[in-house]
Amino acid sequence: MPVKVELLRLGGTSAPANWKEKKSFRTAVYISASRWDQTVEDSSQLLSRQSELCRAFLREHREFKKVETYADRNSSRETNREWNRLLDDVECRKVDAVLVTSIAQIEASCGMACYHVGRFFYPAGIRFVAVEDGFDSYQDDLELYLKRYANRYASFLGAQRHERRFNRNKVTSVSVPYGYIYVAGGTPEIVIDEETAPFVKELFALALQHTTVTEMARHMTEIGAPTPAARRRALYGQKVSGSEYWKSSVVKTILKNPCYTGDYVTGRTKERFLDGVNHFENVPCEDWLVIKNHHEPLIDRETYEKSISIMDSRRFENHRDKASAQNPFRNMFVCGHCGSVMTCNRAGSKSGRAYARIRCDAIRFNKESRCEAYDVRMDETITKLRGELAAEICKANEAASLFPQMVGSAWYQETLSQLKARNSTAAAKILDRSLTKRERDDLYKELLRQKEKLQNFETAFSLDNPWVSLFTGIGDAATIEFDRQQVRAIFQKIEIYRNGEIKVHFVHEEWRAYIDVYLAKVGEKGGVDKWVDETEQ
Ligand SMILES: [Zn+2]
Repeated sequence: MPVKVELLRLGGTSAPANWKEKKSFRTAVYISASRWDQTVEDSSQLLSRQSELCRAFLREHREFKKVETYADRNSSRETNREWNRLLDDVECRKVDAVLVTSIAQIEASCGMACYHVGRFFYPAGIRFVAVEDGFDSYQDDLELYLKRYANRYASFLGAQRHERRFNRNKVTSVSVPYGYIYVAGGTPEIVIDEETAPFVKELFALALQHTTVTEMARHMTEIGAPTPAARRRALYGQKVSGSEYWKSSVVKTILKNPCYTGDYVTGRTKERFLDGVNHFENVPCEDWLVIKNHHEPLIDRETYEKSISIMDSRRFENHRDKASAQNPFRNMFVCGHCGSVMTCNRAGSKSGRAYARIRCDAIRFNKESRCEAYDVRMDETITKLRGELAAEICKANEAASLFPQMVGSAWYQETLSQLKARNSTAAAKILDRSLTKRERDDLYKELLRQKEKLQNFETAFSLDNPWVSLFTGIGDAATIEFDRQQVRAIFQKIEIYRNGEIKVHFVHEEWRAYIDVYLAKVGEKGGVDKWVDETEQ
């Protein structure tokens, strides 16, 4: 019988375990006259709308018993006296739940709001409900919710920044492209850079003659044109990284820049905060901020548009790229001796029939490499690969059938209760407002670590185990048709040796390791014997 593990939410572990039986929650309702994710025009309307939404929610959900309403009626963001009072009451455990319309109305910024909800309410087991956002920490994923709001906040700030700069007609040196010079002063200006402007014109002329960007890059290096990075260093003394050689990507960036037609354009990319890292994503051209005819053009509009359409039409014409893009195992084969990625190409055999081969070419590109060039046949390798895959599928299926036995074992139960105990100890420490932000952050990190350990442990011995669910779902290894997506989903890398041996690294190896640990601990007894023997071979 499959064992389904309940996903760990706030209600599951770190919150009081009795949440499920809990009949009523003492609830604090918080409303405020400001929001950090939008410009508020009518604060009294905002307040009445909030209290209306909260009242409606309380009417429908009888388990929430309102204790008090906290209202910050001043729209200036600095005053949040009521919010602080609410925090005090939470610390003294006068309430078990906090009800708001949106997390965006808490505190003055996204960071602080997320901090209070994520690092204070959540670990301390305070139920947090945001009516308008449709969020309830009892059943929804808190991290996802906070991340989504962090994204929204970042793009809101970014858009505001852009607009402010744009409204003041302000041009920054960063956004002035190659071929122009930024002149600082009362009203910053963009003027033509006589030294590099001819190169820009030449690039566009070449583009109209259907020259490829690779050739253009080579040409620019040959005639000694300074690269954009080099020119920027020379002009503004900025520390700009970038090569002295032209790259095709640099050429592409120039050919695609609408600034050369005399328009000032910003907001072509948007910053987004994803998984703790800043990303830039492209904004569709109808949302760009444009000042038409802002400076002297280098290129007329017709030329610009023509070169764009030529570039777009050529994108998939490069045959070699196409062929290598079609090989589903591209970049997947790695030389077992020197670790470099092996190339796949066609070769003729002695009998005259062409066959695909996988080749270690390291010596050609890197003279230091001590790896002798060699190649193995693709078809033979794929056959071996199928064999390895079949074995893995077999193991995963057996693991799935053994789950009830594993979960029932004393070792599993003991480990689980240890992990649970550590998790709740970590959670208990957090509800103390005298903690500094730093201390709470450390505690929170510790809690997350414990939570993840527990979660992973439970997942590993269930059908949610990614390794098990992947390999039990693949089907027959002998007939599977590999496409690129599938290859990426199944294999991490495939090491190849001179004698034709292969060593396959499957994805989710870390999830398989849990089961290996179990087998090492308790595998001697009972029905798991067989499998242990197999894995040890
Ligand atoms: Zn090699």
